Amino acid sequence: MSDLQNLGEFGLIQLLTEGLPPDKTVIKGIGDDCAVVRVGGEELLFSCDAFLEGIHFQRRWATGEDIGHKAAASALSDIAAMGGIPLYALITVAAPPDTDISFLRDVYTGLKRIFSDSQCSLIGGDTVSSASGLFLNVTVTGKAAGGRILYRRGIMPGDLIMVTGHPGASSQGLHSLLHGKDAPPSLLQAHYRPVPRLQEGLFFSGDPAVHAMIDISDGVSQDLMHMAQCSTVSVHLDSGNFPFSPDQKAYGNAGGLSALDAFLYGGEDYELALAVDPGQAEKLQSCFSRMFSLPLTVIGHAAAGDPELWMDGRKIKSGGWDHFQELK
Ligand code: ADP
Ligand code: MG
Repeated sequence: MSDLQNLGEFGLIQLLTEGLPPDKTVIKGIGDDCAVVRVGGEELLFSCDAFLEGIHFQRRWATGEDIGHKAAASALSDIAAMGGIPLYALITVAAPPDTDISFLRDVYTGLKRIFSDSQCSLIGGDTVSSASGLFLNVTVTGKAAGGRILYRRGIMPGDLIMVTGHPGASSQGLHSLLHGKDAPPSLLQAHYRPVPRLQEGLFFSGDPAVHAMIDISDGVSQDLMHMAQCSTVSVHLDSGNFPFSPDQKAYGNAGGLSALDAFLYGGEDYELALAVDPGQAEKLQSCFSRMFSLPLTVIGHAAAGDPELWMDGRKIKSGGWDHFQELK
């Protein structure tokens, strides 16, 4: 195994960013879904996400519009994860000189549609050639809604852990493409066209019962572990409560990736995971269900203790997508 494989994505980020000088205007630098800075009395959010051919997408499956949509959705999802409002976006495109122009126009159709739907203005970027493969990098900025931002830290022992939607569906969709299996359209849709949960994130940041939040981009177990580490709590999951749709169960039962493995160790769902005051959880769920047609499900709770992940009374490994490591 190479040094980089040993170090992993998160070890590399830590190594490369050691010794940054302090800056009083930076409220949160590295280590959350967005950086948070104070400018002129206002708290602003910044995040960027890269999207590479062969790593994040394959042109033989995804259309240009799918690719543009997903690149923007993953960046906007980091604003949603803080409970913020998106403001502006910048895009870098690197394309090989022989790239079909109509394909690139399709990519931008997908990008522009989701930015317009999210009221996020595309204000610039950079365009360069690439030696091989299409590369997109989307930078988004946003602001705190009503002054409140939700961080990965802030979970209190006893808090209930909730998730929106059906995490795991996206990686089951990807699994079907990689293995040439049939999959229900809902799983493919989850993979091609994830929806950043911006309105939902805003709703959560407006409710003091919600203590912490993250978006599920790297698998529920890995993202909950990030939250547990930032809050110094253990997280205890009840697999019987995981919100699997009938399509997720059917795909696993037909010999595909199981709904449970996809939920824990998949990725690219862009749903939200949050920690909620247990005394307010039912009220939050009933308000949420009046406003949104998306499930909001209690999947476990937090307890005092070392940052560990438990499921059904047994300690489990956390893992998911890491750019340099195979799942351990
Ligand atoms: P997310 O999955 O929410 O997009 P990441 O896991 O990609 O977040 O990044 C984790 C944290 O590390 C973020 O705060 C991000 O800004 C920071 N980060 C990632 N790569 C770099 C880098 N090359 N240099 C500095 N900070 C980085
Ligand atoms: Mg994130």
